[in-house]
Amino acid sequence: MKLAPQLPAVPQDRFGRPLRDLRLSVIDACNFRCGYCMPADRIPDDHGLDAAGRLSFDEIETLVRGFAAIGVHKLRLTGGEPLLRKRLPELVARLATVPGIDDLALTTNGSLLTAQAHALRQAGLHRLTVSLDALDPPVFAAMSGGRGEVGTVLEGIEAAQAAGFEAIKINCVVQRGLNEDQVLPLLAHFRGSGHVVRFIEYMDVGTCNGWRRDQVVTSAQLRDRIAARWPLRPLQSQYRGEVAERYAFADGGGEVGFVSSVSAPFCGDCHRARVSADGRLYTCLFAGEGHDLRPALAGGAAALADHAAALWSRRGDRYSEIRSQPQAPRKHIEMYLIGG
Ligand code: SAM
Ligand code: SF4
Ligand code: SF4
Repeated sequence: MKLAPQLPAVPQDRFGRPLRDLRLSVIDACNFRCGYCMPADRIPDDHGLDAAGRLSFDEIETLVRGFAAIGVHKLRLTGGEPLLRKRLPELVARLATVPGIDDLALTTNGSLLTAQAHALRQAGLHRLTVSLDALDPPVFAAMSGGRGEVGTVLEGIEAAQAAGFEAIKINCVVQRGLNEDQVLPLLAHFRGSGHVVRFIEYMDVGTCNGWRRDQVVTSAQLRDRIAARWPLRPLQSQYRGEVAERYAFADGGGEVGFVSSVSAPFCGDCHRARVSADGRLYTCLFAGEGHDLRPALAGGAAALADHAAALWSRRGDRYSEIRSQPQAPRKHIEMYLIGG
């Protein structure tokens, strides 16, 4: 594919950050109503994009080819709940063959995984992250907005393991007073399984979760609590820009990760773009406005690559580093539209 000569093949943004990593939402709808993302009292109905509103599989493949041409090599499919998108394994199979994409992953709430894990693996999905905030059924219900069952998610994780997914990441968002007591039980459950629990600081994403800083349990606080039960040893990061800090259990029980977006922002190493299911590019999780990629997409992968490179080179986002300052933007895209 030929790129326009005036654009660098791998664009850098205004802070010199290259684009390496793309999160692509395949659907705006979700079957859960987690209070930190899509609280049922604020968002009773799904956003409601119809088939025409969402990018088609052809458009998604073209888009990924275009992004791969300007440096993206990690692709994560997300939602809403991505397993609600019909014929998802078919899409995965198409994306798994895009030249340059060497890491193809998916984030799911796990509720539909039992039925789909095998087909996703066969289609060429490399890695899986399952969100799970609690093992205790009442706490799980409180976190998921009363939707889904913890047993179904655990079955889904087992089905994924049986289908060949290894070292599944189990993401848990911790909210003070809601699921703090689930941290040690989650670790007790997954230690020694080869899967890796990662604790995510509760973030001020979107506009409807009513976030307050005192609801955040910091990674440092969690790490101290965990280390008091199972001593921990820090691990080296595997690559520049790795989002989670990793620790090994000193007794050989595996590892645990912490994502400290609030207490220790990592904007300096943020190489990630996000695209919503209707084809809008967001250069930050906290961006207020997206850029409609559809017109460029109609011109094919090369036209999309040129347009996305130009948008990326204008990027100056670093919200998490400036969140408490007056100039920090207050209008944020909803998390369920760009998938975390
Ligand atoms: N529905 C799928 C799921 O839950 O895994 C994929 C989309 S969801 C938006 C992606 C991730 O964002 C989940 O792991 C979820 O826990 C995380 N998330 C959503 N809102 C968050 C918030 N306010 N703070 C931190 N993480 C959040
Ligand atoms: Fe749905 Fe995922 Fe948001 Fe929960 S975090 S409401 S499962 S999109
Ligand atoms: Fe990247 Fe924006 Fe998050 Fe900073 S706040 S790490 S720029 S997504």
